[in-house]
Amino acid sequence: MPKTLLRMKAIAFHAPFELACEAAPEPVLEAPTDVILRVDLAAICGSDLHVYRGVERGLDRGTRMGHEFLGTVAEAGPAVTRFRPGTRAVSPFSTSCGACFACRRGLTSRCEQSQLFGWVQEGRGLHGGQAEYVRVPLADATLVALPEGVPDEQALLAGDVLSTGFHAADAGDVQPGDVVAVLGCGPVGLCALLGARERGARAVLAIDGVAERLELAERFGGTPVPLGPETVARVRAASEGRGADVALEAVGHPSASRLAYELVRVGGTIAAPGVHNEPHLAFSPGEIYDKNLTYRAGRAPARAYMERILARLTAHRLDLAPLFSHRMALAEAPRGYQIFDQKRERCTKVLLTP
Ligand code: NAD
Ligand code: ZN
Ligand code: ZN
Repeated sequence: MPKTLLRMKAIAFHAPFELACEAAPEPVLEAPTDVILRVDLAAICGSDLHVYRGVERGLDRGTRMGHEFLGTVAEAGPAVTRFRPGTRAVSPFSTSCGACFACRRGLTSRCEQSQLFGWVQEGRGLHGGQAEYVRVPLADATLVALPEGVPDEQALLAGDVLSTGFHAADAGDVQPGDVVAVLGCGPVGLCALLGARERGARAVLAIDGVAERLELAERFGGTPVPLGPETVARVRAASEGRGADVALEAVGHPSASRLAYELVRVGGTIAAPGVHNEPHLAFSPGEIYDKNLTYRAGRAPARAYMERILARLTAHRLDLAPLFSHRMALAEAPRGYQIFDQKRERCTKVLLTP
């Protein structure tokens, strides 16, 4: 039977709030630099929710979702030198060539040839990894071989939320002794909390409205601060009345941007891994001027962080196990999206096994 007729299970986008586990064509090698990965483990990211909720639009019906995955090489194109069938590897959420202007500066997320997994629009783009198989372009530069001794579910986080969180702490230029406010205690915020602590933050005030996420933040070494009328006062009280040196905004909503602005001290920095879809900032050029504020945002160059992150995991310097709330079969992913979206059943991170 020709390869293109083989079918696999995948989570397909139909419309906002409508996903289905359905039969899809198995991916095939399209370029000599491609790898076909058999997915061993995938996860749902907060960024998948923007598509799920219809806030980010443009995805073709039938696009296979997901950009957090690891697996075993099933097939490697003739130009692939670092990966052979049977090699296990983890992928960052976007592809990169490793050689262009942006890649050479460590900004792999803005590679000239970068493609985001799980984004196909008007027939162009790349299917995602919430599937039994996924095609990985530019595999030599994109994939990272899995090190020994790191549980799959922790290694998976290196490809997105851990790298994103650590990059946020770097973008915020957190200094030893700083008071840091983290807005949003989802997986990205919690990883940003860990990143801020590794950089020597004196205190990390972790802000969210969901009780169990605040509990997690405390387990990760943060000081929980419930979202509410007291939030700003609590942060001021912890910073000699000045406000936080750095705010890491890991939500992706104007209300969180605005709060970050209120929380940060004069001369402070807001670093925002949160993905925004609104047309304007929640603070004006005049307000930036009045606080001598630095604002940094953007897609995290996960690939540039992965080796360092995996080395920390190999040395057991990070324990992410408390993050995982749900493990389910791939076919159950539509329910996984529902509970992750609505923060039901104490859902913080959903792992999917094909
Ligand atoms: P998540 O939905 O699990 O977490 C978001 C958290 O923010 C929730 O716990 C929610 O209760 C909280 N929240 C909502 N409004 C708030 C407010 N005003 N103040 C404080 N907290 C508030 O998502 P996640 O997986 O942690 O992802 C967080 C964000 O990071 C998303 O926008 C996602 O798209 C983005 N992201 C960006 C990158 C990147 O490369 N920059 C990579 C991964 C994820
Ligand atoms: Zn993501
Ligand atoms: Zn590149």
